[in-house]
Amino acid sequence: MGINIEKYNTIIEELKSKATLVAVSKTKPAEDIQALYDLGQRNFGENYVQELVEKEALLPKDIRWHFIGHLQSNKVKYIAPFVHLIHGVDSFNLLKEINKQALKNNRVINCLLQIHIAKEETKFGFDENELQEIITQIKSELHEFKNIKVIGLMGMASFSDNNDLIRSEFKNLKKIFDINAQLSTINFQLSTLSMGMSGDYKIAIEEGSNMARIGSLLFGERNYNH
Ligand SMILES: *Cc1c(COP(=O)(O)O)cnc(C)c1O
Repeated sequence: MGINIEKYNTIIEELKSKATLVAVSKTKPAEDIQALYDLGQRNFGENYVQELVEKEALLPKDIRWHFIGHLQSNKVKYIAPFVHLIHGVDSFNLLKEINKQALKNNRVINCLLQIHIAKEETKFGFDENELQEIITQIKSELHEFKNIKVIGLMGMASFSDNNDLIRSEFKNLKKIFDINAQLSTINFQLSTLSMGMSGDYKIAIEEGSNMARIGSLLFGERNYNH
């Protein structure tokens, strides 16, 4: 139990000037988040809306909360008042709902589009063609989307021991990122590339990630039997 301070310091050193660390605290108690906060960590990632809302109420207000899970449109309203960055946007309707709730809260919410790069069927996200479609849609309805800003892409590699496979998937996402980073508009400006987790962040950083989402290395393995 508790956080791994040594590992935290090592990772901070490894990522320094290359990538932002998002400490993924899903299923972990508020005390563990506070402990990492006390060491200077400010970016935390959560996957479940209700859990995030509860933790946000308990913990310091200068924490930047990243929503990294699969977000359902009907739950956007609960996190819209405070969320710092939504990583997993995987449909145009979701983007519309985020815009609507952001407007209600009189703020602009930053989003990452999730791109499907893994071989597995189960992972959410756009393929390359769908990405081009959504970019076209955002641009053609620019005036409608004043309260969101797409600032980057997010992806998850295959859950695999095959480092070559993982590397090639990250490489592919970086390529897609670089191509689309040239197409900026007022609410579509790609600067953040969120890729890499506990098992593959080193490869992700080598392949150009500038935001790593790391959970179990910092907080220990998760136990879902609660
Ligand atoms: C849980 C989760 C992570 C962190 O996973 P670890 O392997 O514990 O580092 C990162 N990204 C997403 C989208 C997750 O759901």
